[in-house]
Amino acid sequence: MPWKAPNPIEIYKMLPKTNCGKCGEANCMAFAVKLINFEADVDQCTPLFEEEYKESYQKIKALVAPPVKEITLKSPQRTVKIGGEYVLCRHELKYMNPTAIAIDVDDSMDKDTLIKRLKAIENFSYEYVGRKLKLDLVALRSTSNDPKQYMKATQTVIENCTLPLILCSQDPRIIEAGLSVLNGKHKPMIYAATKDNWREMADLAKTYNSALTIASPGDLDTLISLTKTLTEDVGIEDVALDPGCFTGIGGLSYTIKAYTQLRYKAMNEGYKYASYPLIGTPISIWTKPHEDPVQKIMWETILSTIMITRYADAIIMHSLEGWSLLPLVIWRFQIYTDPRKPVAVETGLRVIGNPDENSPVFVTSNYALTYSIVSNDIQRSGLNAWLIVIDTEGLAVDVSVAAKKFVGDKVMEVIKESGLEDKVKNKILIIPGKAARVSGDIEEVTKWKVVVGPMDSSEIPSFIKKIWTPEKIKEILEG
Ligand code: SF4
Repeated sequence: MPWKAPNPIEIYKMLPKTNCGKCGEANCMAFAVKLINFEADVDQCTPLFEEEYKESYQKIKALVAPPVKEITLKSPQRTVKIGGEYVLCRHELKYMNPTAIAIDVDDSMDKDTLIKRLKAIENFSYEYVGRKLKLDLVALRSTSNDPKQYMKATQTVIENCTLPLILCSQDPRIIEAGLSVLNGKHKPMIYAATKDNWREMADLAKTYNSALTIASPGDLDTLISLTKTLTEDVGIEDVALDPGCFTGIGGLSYTIKAYTQLRYKAMNEGYKYASYPLIGTPISIWTKPHEDPVQKIMWETILSTIMITRYADAIIMHSLEGWSLLPLVIWRFQIYTDPRKPVAVETGLRVIGNPDENSPVFVTSNYALTYSIVSNDIQRSGLNAWLIVIDTEGLAVDVSVAAKKFVGDKVMEVIKESGLEDKVKNKILIIPGKAARVSGDIEEVTKWKVVVGPMDSSEIPSFIKKIWTPEKIKEILEG
């Protein structure tokens, strides 16, 4: 049976019902509603930790738990969550945790090369509709098969990169060498336990509190059997599954079917041995000996696209070329946006160029596309400016004006929170042409002069030339 959101009344009945407000909500009913909408975490209701609510706490946890377990990987600076999915099809709700992309480094690299690659992985960033799309994890492979060298490489990785780690080797001695330098300050993923090493890998995962990938490429029966043993008999909780990643006509078909089958069984049949995050290894294309590297990058990109589309919660790649990563991070972004909500960016004050007290102040909505176009148009014009992004719940300017979301109160919120009043001399707001009919409201609430800007932000440069002169500014302020 597919996951069904519990009724808030059902949750409410199990809460302490004291309306104490410790969760940040006015009352228990409001908290129950937030909980089923994934806007709150059950642990925010701290009274539930008391002995008398122990049973209720467990029951609520079970009711809101996703069919696919969520695993958290950590470095001292970063946290990456994988899995935690509730639905097979995005339109049924939304996908929760975007597929984490890990890029490999290996322990045979000299220190400079290793650091250079780590910096390239960590600094990869592509700005897309107001969001910074980035990579998530570093996968450290052992090609030396020398525990000491792996230990040294792990040390270099953690000193030069803040991303959480996947430690890759099928040799438990190598994995132990890597884990031993993490000092319990990280929660890495071990890749991987197989039918030949699972006992030793399970011991390491337990001793070092690590997540563990179970790999059985091309053999789903063994994958399920190992999962049953490691989770039920050995008691490892944070496991992920790798059914294998293959190319060629039969290989691609197997790959898609295996991932889909596992996820389908978790979501629609509640099959517990499939209810774990799925790990994909498009990097396996690099083990093919004689192919042209460009072909390999192309195949790795294709495999990664398939994996992101068909349920992989994390993938391990080798290619760091922009032309390979760019389509992947954009595709991932598209799949993992909430289909029920317009794409929004954070509200607040943005700085464009080097604005000072004489620079103009623009106002726009937090609909990602609008924000992206407006900020780009201002940047392209070479202006130094302030840009107020107000909370219109992700609606575009014209829609938010009609829905009464583009209002003076929202503009005032940002002015106050950002301290903009102390940053500029001329208290003038330039609002979009499409918001002309709320200019009076904005002026009344903020007490700033409001100028209605162009209908299309591409006209901002010519518009600003006309109105942003000392004479015109004086005229506006006195008008
Ligand atoms: S903390 Fe718990 S008991 Fe208190 S208001 Fe929130 S839900 Fe109710």
